[in-house]
Amino acid sequence: MIKNSKFLTVPELDKIPWLVHGFGLAGFGLESLADEREFSSFHPVVLKQLHSSRVFCLYEKPLRQLAGDGLVTSATGLMLIIRTADCLPVFLVDAENRAVAAVHCGWRSTAQKILAVTVDLMVKKFRSRPENLLAAFGPCIERNCYQVGPEVAEIFTRAVFDSGKILSPADRPGKFYLDLREANRSLLINQLGLRAENIHEIDLCTFCQPDLHSYRRERQTNSRLINFAGIRGRLI
Ligand SMILES: [Zn+2]
Repeated sequence: MIKNSKFLTVPELDKIPWLVHGFGLAGFGLESLADEREFSSFHPVVLKQLHSSRVFCLYEKPLRQLAGDGLVTSATGLMLIIRTADCLPVFLVDAENRAVAAVHCGWRSTAQKILAVTVDLMVKKFRSRPENLLAAFGPCIERNCYQVGPEVAEIFTRAVFDSGKILSPADRPGKFYLDLREANRSLLINQLGLRAENIHEIDLCTFCQPDLHSYRRERQTNSRLINFAGIRGRLI
């Protein structure tokens, strides 16, 4: 059990004075975010998540709900929200240029390299330098708990991931264990230029940990973990 906590944070991101972030535990909903004094002034931005590689750059509060799986902003007062139950939530932070991204990395978005789209957007819009970006990975389903079929394995192999590291044969014929963390970590390091020491992970499995929601353990639950990141200051 994870005691005395509503959400988890990464110490290296806690050190950045302008940033707020957290990976919510089960029971911490959007209304909990509004109830926390520290976060109540933020405007939450909740995507209609599609398992895509669509990422939006926000300069102000969006006028309608956006459909996609990643958000990037340098604007103050917006709270970027990613909802998960087994998928990997990722934050990217540019401490030099004061920008933050929140990304929903399920297997489909991972195979479509949504983090590459996100880093490209940060480079273009904020002149981010990948070697200086910080990444934080929240809880997700771990490799040993995550079996996929041959069609998913094939998609990853075709997408030119280092499949030896992210896929391994499972006991059942034709099934594979998929390592979502490693797929996204190796993408950031080997293809996008982030430094390994700048990637910080909360190594908890949503399937094993009862304080977290798991789509697979809870039999296709509608409950989601709320992962949030934003830049302090008034919304303009
Ligand atoms: Zn597990």
